[in-house]
Amino acid sequence: MPLPEERLAKPIELPGCPEVTIIEWKHNGAQEILTKPLPALIVELGALCRTVVDELDRRIRAAGVEPSAEFAMRLTMSVLPPGKGPRELNDVSGRMRVAGPARSETLHGSYWYGFRHAFMQNGVAKRDPSGGLTLSTEARRVFAHELFHAFVHQRGVAWHFESQGGEEQGAQEFTASMGFGR
Ligand SMILES: [Zn+2]
Repeated sequence: MPLPEERLAKPIELPGCPEVTIIEWKHNGAQEILTKPLPALIVELGALCRTVVDELDRRIRAAGVEPSAEFAMRLTMSVLPPGKGPRELNDVSGRMRVAGPARSETLHGSYWYGFRHAFMQNGVAKRDPSGGLTLSTEARRVFAHELFHAFVHQRGVAWHFESQGGEEQGAQEFTASMGFGR
């Protein structure tokens, strides 16, 4: 979780998606322009968030599972540089130590059930053909992947995936089906 001094003075609410609030955002110094929370990118993230949550809701109902109305979805998020430096996303000997035992794998994102908090790597933007900035496909994939974990736990439907190849596979199949890759 972010330390008090790491939290944004003004959290970023995603337009059209009150389910997610970004409370920490660190950009990569080397790629500053591609990793800043520019307003147009936040609008895109909000639209993506809405699409993902509504689609998950539609699919789980189509599978015959009725999420309980009493379990609403609500999470906070940190957007962090992907490196291994102190307090970065792969700071596995420090900040991310409690996320699990030593891993060979590099984290792109992580959802912490107990805190209702997701982390995603900051590589949010890419240049579009007109020279403007748009959300990268990688950012869409990581965002949708972590939202999948948040959704299935917070809406009380994680059990459904136990017989379907597991939750992690479910998350990967979901992002692939949305066109964001696995
Ligand atoms: Zn996952």
